[in-house]
Amino acid sequence: MAASLAFMSEELDRMKREGLYGNIRTLESPQGATVKIGGKEYLNLCSNNYLGFANDPKICEKTKAMIDKYGVGPGAVRTIAGTMDIHLELEKRLAAFKGAEAAIVLQSGFCANLAVIPTLMVEGDLIFSDSLNHASIIDACRLTKAKVIRFEHSDMNDLRKKLEENASNPGKKMLITDGVFSMDGDIARLPEIVKICNEFGVMTAVDDAHGEGVLGKGGRGIVDHFNLHGKVDIEIGTMSKAFGVMGGMVAGSAVLVDFLRQKARTNLFSSALTVPDVAANMAALDMMEASDERVNKLWENGDYLKAELKSAGFDVGNSETPITPVIIGEAQAAKDFSAKLFENGVFATAIVFPTVPRGTARIRAMVSAAHSKADLDKGISIFVKVGKEMGVVK
Ligand SMILES: *Cc1c(COP(=O)(O)O)cnc(C)c1O
Repeated sequence: MAASLAFMSEELDRMKREGLYGNIRTLESPQGATVKIGGKEYLNLCSNNYLGFANDPKICEKTKAMIDKYGVGPGAVRTIAGTMDIHLELEKRLAAFKGAEAAIVLQSGFCANLAVIPTLMVEGDLIFSDSLNHASIIDACRLTKAKVIRFEHSDMNDLRKKLEENASNPGKKMLITDGVFSMDGDIARLPEIVKICNEFGVMTAVDDAHGEGVLGKGGRGIVDHFNLHGKVDIEIGTMSKAFGVMGGMVAGSAVLVDFLRQKARTNLFSSALTVPDVAANMAALDMMEASDERVNKLWENGDYLKAELKSAGFDVGNSETPITPVIIGEAQAAKDFSAKLFENGVFATAIVFPTVPRGTARIRAMVSAAHSKADLDKGISIFVKVGKEMGVVK
């Protein structure tokens, strides 16, 4: 390899030495309660497919029918090639689901953050950002010339202090927070955030990626969970998690959505979601609107897994949602733990730095509505077996 490219293999070697190199598994099956890897079946405890929609037969059927009518591709960006009526229909339905005036659909949750933050916030503005916010929020902040002020994770005193310190700054101000913090499962203190931000005249934005399909009535998200309809200025979301598909969204006032449609670079310079994505997301909405059975099952499963692992002696952190972190500590130990789970038939990936702080490497166990109690019991007994072998639990 050319000497000018050697930095890459050097960095990869370093990552391998420090246990930070990710081994990406190849699946030979859909995402479900179990997955097939290397011809063998594994209990799947790592997907964000909360409601089991990723391979739901009804969703697949409706998606195929939509392909017959519209084909697969959107042709170009919406502002040039026009937008299909199904994209507009999905946006209308998402707005209604979220209880917002309007919504815009983007290609992913990552793109939704890129659509909101650099479009609204410019040089001279201030962004107040929770220290545990998702990478897509951090990167979207990096794309603005606005100043980013981090506050301690969910620390309302620190938030207030930072708002006070900057109260006389004439720039626009935005607060942005994850709704559910994805690696720990705790929920943002949104009612207090809204109250404090109102005092200081600060726009509020929440990224509800792990809240849609999970929190609120029938999975209507964090704003519904706290009954804050109309009080949070910007709701960012994804359809890659509970919806089981792909796609991002932003919900809020009609003016916000119009502004993003006209100005967000991820809308102007990247093509629309594909037809199968739109169709599948619409079918997922049909399912959520028809019944909250899956959402309830998800919570039942999450509560059960957390309680059982905790009583077995694992450190499951302070999750308030079905997300179940099992904190191991050092990156290599978490990787070894994950490898042993795998040998025993459980697919649960280790999450290490930079996704979580150093020294808090973990297995993040993700249940879904698709898991049966027998699936969970199997998973729990293997966690305990491996935990004892590795001296993590007694
Ligand atoms: C997963 C996640 C995203 C990214 O969503 P994609 O649709 O997969 O791009 C953005 N924000 C948060 C908080 C997330 O958890």
